[in-house]
Amino acid sequence: MKIITITGLGLQFDAGQLRPGTPEHQAELAIKRINGLLQIDPFALGAQIFNTQNPLQVIEVCSECGHESIEFVLCPDGAEICNDCFKQGNH
Ligand SMILES: [Zn+2]
Repeated sequence: MKIITITGLGLQFDAGQLRPGTPEHQAELAIKRINGLLQIDPFALGAQIFNTQNPLQVIEVCSECGHESIEFVLCPDGAEICNDCFKQGNH
């Protein structure tokens, strides 16, 4: 059987949904969770996600402005947005 591998594919997910932790740890958990779901879905083509870079390359992006950020602020409603959006009252 021939296998097709897509390289350079990005994966995006909502942070903090599984367990708090570093972005890298959350990314590893997300890959495991998605692969678990793919294994039980008969229409998933036998697909799996795997990391091709070591260490894992992750970025954190603000869901309000879409910009990559280093500093996030936890809002009273539980949303995490970048410090710039927080200062501008964008949430
Ligand atoms: Zn922002």
